[in-house]
Amino acid sequence: MAKKAKKTVSKSSSSTCEYGNYSTWKKALKRLDEGNARYKAGKYDHPNQQPECREMWTGKQEPWCIVLSCADSRVTPEMVFDTGIGELFVIRVAGNIANASTIASIEYAAANLKSVQGIVVLGHECCGAVGAALSIQDSGNAAPSPALQHLVGHIAPALQKKPAGKDKMAGYVRANARLAAEDLVARSQIIQNSKLPIVPAYYRLKSGDVEFLNPIA
Ligand SMILES: [Zn+2]
Repeated sequence: MAKKAKKTVSKSSSSTCEYGNYSTWKKALKRLDEGNARYKAGKYDHPNQQPECREMWTGKQEPWCIVLSCADSRVTPEMVFDTGIGELFVIRVAGNIANASTIASIEYAAANLKSVQGIVVLGHECCGAVGAALSIQDSGNAAPSPALQHLVGHIAPALQKKPAGKDKMAGYVRANARLAAEDLVARSQIIQNSKLPIVPAYYRLKSGDVEFLNPIA
């Protein structure tokens, strides 16, 4: 992976862009963990959100992590990991599914942005998309529109898994994140060729905690 020195643009003590050197997935994952710890504690740095940082990245971008997240308004990766402009390449879609559009977005980043070190697929507690897919499956009816049918069709395989533990919805969400992560590799030669680590994760709404699950082998 291409590497660069720490980039700093400073115009005054109160307006500084500081980007770490995340040259490996281990370093990137540590940064995600540290940012999530700040978010959980409510002690944010809000890094790299100043106008200078916008200016710094007008001609290019060098994000260090791709995040495929649910569109749910309560799950905002840039906040959850306390990051700023140009750090995360985020794709959001209900149910964090691997469909043609999300795969194409990730293919672009994986193939063209050499700064990227890995991919996180972020499912979350009480996911409405997974809940809707379950309701539609249980009702035996079709979804209310072709587009919704497409969405729940991507989630349906996760509902065939037998979740361990009492919280079945959490089990389905975890299975859905894992299957989406596996789909990224299975359905994209470009993502496969990138050899980027892919890690499903589970976000808890109340605590703000992100639990990283076993990576896709
Ligand atoms: Zn959701």
